[in-house]
Amino acid sequence: MKKIKIALHIQILLALILGAIFGSIFSIDHNKLNIEYLKNNQEIEKEVSNWSKIIFYDESGNVVSEFAHSDQLKIIANFKKINDAQKSKIKVDVLDKNSNLSFSTNGIYSISKVNTIAVQIKPIGDIFIRLLSFLAIPMVLASLIVGAASIDDIKKLGRIGTKTFVFYLTTTALAITIGLTVANVIQPGNLINAQSKERLLSTFQSETAEKISKNVDIDIVDFFVNIVPKNPFAAIADGNMLQIVFFAVVFGMMLTFISKEKSVHVINFFDAMSDTMIKLVEYVMKIAPFGVFALISATVADFGFDILSTLIWYMFAVILGLFLQTIIVYPIIVKYFGKSNIIQFFKAMREAIAIAFSTSSSAATLPVTMKCVEQNLKIPKKISGFVLPLGATINMDGTALYQGVATLFIAQVYGIDLGITGQITVVLTAVLASIGTAPVPGVGIIMLVMILQAVHVPAEGIALIIGVDRILDMLRTIPNILGDASISMAIAKGESK
Ligand code: ASP
Repeated sequence: MKKIKIALHIQILLALILGAIFGSIFSIDHNKLNIEYLKNNQEIEKEVSNWSKIIFYDESGNVVSEFAHSDQLKIIANFKKINDAQKSKIKVDVLDKNSNLSFSTNGIYSISKVNTIAVQIKPIGDIFIRLLSFLAIPMVLASLIVGAASIDDIKKLGRIGTKTFVFYLTTTALAITIGLTVANVIQPGNLINAQSKERLLSTFQSETAEKISKNVDIDIVDFFVNIVPKNPFAAIADGNMLQIVFFAVVFGMMLTFISKEKSVHVINFFDAMSDTMIKLVEYVMKIAPFGVFALISATVADFGFDILSTLIWYMFAVILGLFLQTIIVYPIIVKYFGKSNIIQFFKAMREAIAIAFSTSSSAATLPVTMKCVEQNLKIPKKISGFVLPLGATINMDGTALYQGVATLFIAQVYGIDLGITGQITVVLTAVLASIGTAPVPGVGIIMLVMILQAVHVPAEGIALIIGVDRILDMLRTIPNILGDASISMAIAKGESK
């Protein structure tokens, strides 16, 4: 029998669709909770469902808090907040649909959602992300050293670096401007009712507090100082991409200053290392359909579809902005600066697009982006090896665009008019934030706190949007990697003259 061979990108696409279907069939029930407690020193698990009320009492029997049937997330968040010593003393009553007591206990140590098979398979996706991530650092290091060693002209390197930086800042600024324009036109914050606002704020209150506490300030001077690693091995061990780029470029250039006889061995070593990593990407990509299936299925199964309708206009504004950025800005760069065909560009990048979407991480996608850019777009390693890792770290158009929409949305909900000066401040801080945003899932929302504070919009407002952040994170990671790829084309074309 003839074996039918399905192209990898089709397999990944099928995995995306089937994963979404599987996840929605085996989705987490929002009317169920898993309560774990100790009774006579034995750990017991109890599943409770369809409660009409759940009441928490303190040790003297006073009611501490009461929750309704739709409060699954609030109950979990509320329990997490209680300190361990208190937890065991708290008593919980679960009332069924007819308000009769159906379960009561104390000694509780955990309250969680009841996971389904769609979530239990997530470790397969995690292994896939880990394989991609471990590839990224050696790949960047090796290809950058070989790239820098072949440029052998400091002036040329300086020119490439400056051009890349200018391109990155410009596309990011354009992205936020698109985001702000869309949010000004659609005004999603004025299309949400007061009741939904209250519900979102109280449900995601504690998750928000957690994010706000992680807020990192960016100091532009520190940012540049920190690019120089004190210890390159520590930079590699910590995965600090900018420091790795700095070390690799300096190291690669210095190789051109020593005798060829000696440098050739080192260059060959790193060249082989880079080829090995690219080979490894090809193998890792063979399991991509399974990884993608598991990641999408777990995300869909755990997604709060009920809040979708409340935030539909906000989501629409972000998605429209990302779409405009993708179909206007990148094609212009590819066509006018890269002098290449736009359709070919998107075709060449389709594997990387699918991986960015399913992993929500431009860092994990970096090896795939590098493979697509080098093998499909035929960009020389010395350019892609420099432009892409730098872009994965400092160029996040999708994230910046989303931050623009989110800031205006929250301001609109709180009735704050940012005006033109406020919006310019948003552009400036979002460009800075996008440089400082680590290319991993969910960091965009943490940096958003900094932008909100810069324009005096209450940071607690991120509770309004946190519930749909995962899906938007998946989407914004796509322009994050496409921006880097299109700019690598523009730089390569400019340098080939
Ligand atoms: N997930 C994004 C990335 O890795 C960053 C973010 O927006 O949270 O590119």
